[in-house]
Amino acid sequence: MLNFLNRSQNPPEEADLRSMTEKLSIIQDKCDVYLRSITAMLHFLKAFTLDVAELQTERFKQEIEELNERFQEPEKPKRLELHFEQRKEHILHFIDQQQTYIKDREKELRDIIDLLTRAMANLNVENREFYQRINEQGEKIIKISALDDIKKIKNALKVEVDQMREIVHLKEDQEQRQIRLLATQVTSLKTELEKTREKAMTDALTGAYNRQALDDFLAARIERSQMNNAEFSLLMVDIDNFKQINDKFGHPIGDRVLVALAQKCRNSIRGEDFLARYGGEEFTIILEGAGFRNALKKAQLLCNTIASVRYATSDGATDEYLSMTISIGVTQFKKGDTVADLVGRADKALYDAKHKGKNCVVGRKS
Ligand code: GH3
Ligand code: MG
Ligand code: MG
Repeated sequence: MLNFLNRSQNPPEEADLRSMTEKLSIIQDKCDVYLRSITAMLHFLKAFTLDVAELQTERFKQEIEELNERFQEPEKPKRLELHFEQRKEHILHFIDQQQTYIKDREKELRDIIDLLTRAMANLNVENREFYQRINEQGEKIIKISALDDIKKIKNALKVEVDQMREIVHLKEDQEQRQIRLLATQVTSLKTELEKTREKAMTDALTGAYNRQALDDFLAARIERSQMNNAEFSLLMVDIDNFKQINDKFGHPIGDRVLVALAQKCRNSIRGEDFLARYGGEEFTIILEGAGFRNALKKAQLLCNTIASVRYATSDGATDEYLSMTISIGVTQFKKGDTVADLVGRADKALYDAKHKGKNCVVGRKS
């Protein structure tokens, strides 16, 4: 006020005017510096915001930009201050939000790392080298989680996860190869086992089951009969005067006769029936579901068939033929029978058939 009066009453000296102009120029310069600093600060603030959709960063950046524009405009300081005060609250709130966000993400990251590490450790690791590598990866990941820079964490984690993936794939490949190899081995071992089992149960000459297989089959069949009432019968088949066939035609032809008889027997029974070479020139047939009468009928049919066939014994250049007959003892399974009871009864019936004159069928119920 006093200055004003002075100015109106006594015009200032030139020196005073120069000094005032200089002061004004300094103030103007300062203002420029402040304005540039504010612009720079606001720019830094924008640069420090994370590009995260859920924080609504874009809106925040726009508000900062508007604030910056306000500072550049010739606004009244009071209005500018008021506007800044309003924005300040918002800026502080955003910073708060961003810090919480970073903390949350950091925790999530650590949880992921923990999960990954445990998952890797839980992998089925037999291979020591593989186990060691996984452990090393886990250590590296824990170190990464201590880094401050979220971008560094992200990049380093990506590298580590890629490496872990590669290790897991390698291990998977290795395991797949082992599984394939083992599967092949298991299959061939199974086939071998099956062949050996089959061989152990089969008569090498005729391909019929052997005596051991017959005993096992009968024991299991008798056991089963306690649970189901399905009847079955047993036939004991013996070539008549086989010794003479051997003597007349030779052992190899005798062998072929045995093979031919086995084939004929096989052809005359059903899939569920059972044919075994009991020993020598004796065969056993188990007829599933056949009662005594049916078994007798079947035996008679077989007896007739065998007797009606003539076998060529040479290559056809000479007219040498061989025929044979068989005798059959028949019996039916009775409740309480053991394997020995059943076979013994059929054997007795066969003995009776031989005594009756051979080439015939005799049945025994008890
Ligand atoms: P039967 O009518 O009373 O049964 O008289 P068989 O001559 O048939 O019976 P025997 O028990 O007297 O003779 C059985 C013959 O079967 C004696 C044996 O050399 C012969 N034999 C046993 N196993 C084989 C074999 O695998 N191959 C050959 N070729 N002969 C065998
Ligand atoms: Mg005989
Ligand atoms: Mg015999």
